[in-house]
Amino acid sequence: MKISKTDFLIFRECAHNAWVKLHRPEVYRAQPLSEFDQSLLEAGNAVDVLARDLFSGGMLMARGDAAATAALVADRTPVLYQPVFETDQYTTACDILVWDAASERYDLFEVKASTSDSDNRARDEAYTYDLAFQSPVLEANGVPIGRHILVRLDSAYVRDADLDIHALFHFEDRSQAVAALRDVIAHEMDTAHDLLSRATPLPAPCNCMTKGRSAHCTTFAHTNPNVPAYSVHDITRIGASKKKLAELIDRGILDIRDVPDDIELSETQLNQVRAARTGRVSIDEDAIADHLGALAYPLAFLDYETFPAAIPRFPGYGPFHHIPFQYSLDVIRAPGAGVEHFEFLHTAATCPDMALLDALRRDMPATGSVITWNQTFERGINDKLAARNPSAASFLAGVNARVVDLMDVFSDQAYVHPGFRGRTSIKAILPVLVPELSYTTLAIQEGATATVRWNEIATGAVSEAEARRIAADLLAYCALDTRAMVEIWRVLEGEVGRWRIRRWG
Ligand code: SF4
Repeated sequence: MKISKTDFLIFRECAHNAWVKLHRPEVYRAQPLSEFDQSLLEAGNAVDVLARDLFSGGMLMARGDAAATAALVADRTPVLYQPVFETDQYTTACDILVWDAASERYDLFEVKASTSDSDNRARDEAYTYDLAFQSPVLEANGVPIGRHILVRLDSAYVRDADLDIHALFHFEDRSQAVAALRDVIAHEMDTAHDLLSRATPLPAPCNCMTKGRSAHCTTFAHTNPNVPAYSVHDITRIGASKKKLAELIDRGILDIRDVPDDIELSETQLNQVRAARTGRVSIDEDAIADHLGALAYPLAFLDYETFPAAIPRFPGYGPFHHIPFQYSLDVIRAPGAGVEHFEFLHTAATCPDMALLDALRRDMPATGSVITWNQTFERGINDKLAARNPSAASFLAGVNARVVDLMDVFSDQAYVHPGFRGRTSIKAILPVLVPELSYTTLAIQEGATATVRWNEIATGAVSEAEARRIAADLLAYCALDTRAMVEIWRVLEGEVGRWRIRRWG
């Protein structure tokens, strides 16, 4: 069996998962890639391809063509894209190899679609291991290697009229870090090959048994069929308190409804457990009244859709800056008034900033509360819009000053329902509180799909007829996001109203 670089990197994260990938691909792929993961892959490919322009005139190897690579390396071909190297045990495709005539060695460039200021230490370490894995495989093929260079997107880069790829890409020489790993990597590669070549699965339970649900990979349920769908792993932020989770597991408590009273949990966690155990709803009308009482009419329910382009597409944009291509705005001007719906969708290949700002200035009431769900996102989009368009800065600052987060009612646990399962996303709250409204009937059902579909229109990847269909789907999706907020707000208003009647008659 040949272990690829990807297999090895997955092995370093989780040996169990890597084994399932190689030996039970039908289980590993049981859940297809989400639209979001798919878009990340596409972004990665686009960045890879663009980085080749840094070293133009190279030869692109066909997938898996180690023989052609060997011949070109023997000829000291100056630049190779995706060269493939194999040994009896390992296989790897490099991103770019560049011959350095001065040192008479090939410099190895590994391209990543991430920004240079990322503070994700695990990912940063994985990048060094990524380069370190390639090194012995290339050496075994007789390739003289010079420097090991990590190529990422410079987070400080801001595009002018033209894209400057030399300023966009950031180079970091990791040769020393790779050299320091030489013995470690040899040992780890041997171990990976040994364990992953075994025909019998690594024993369950896997390590994620003592991690929160968000850490689980798609094979968790397969490996741990005894863990119920709603388990102790779903307790809010339980992943941050590993001791508590470990104690529960040690005591054989898996179902969230079986969590005993003597386990020390936070108030938030206890509320979730109580709701699951009793099936009862807990409503703090005082707290909800405080939240709703802070709102001022006209109420404007706002939701943006954006596309995070890895390669800056327009002037003023940097790597992964979000392109705000759509908004939905529902306005209720006074108590008892109906909902006025406004919407904006930019479908051209041009920068949407100015058109969006013109529309928003026209549609957004000058006073009153601007209601969002997870305000950090909408506020952040407004801040970036203001930075790129200083003439709109005071308008956007005014909007941000009026932003209120409806999600706070749920994250503050003023309303706890067993059906929320401890989650506070609008997709978790809506089906419980307003079951007649549903995303499941829409062609686009979540934000990641919206970004992918919009990009298809904006890049001309689909026919005009298909683009019109997608545009209609996008409008329906974003409109439901604001409609959902309106209806959830109405449910909360109703609770407060009934409570007032109960209290004061
Ligand atoms: S759930 Fe966690 S430990 Fe289990 S296979 Fe997946 S990543 Fe590995």
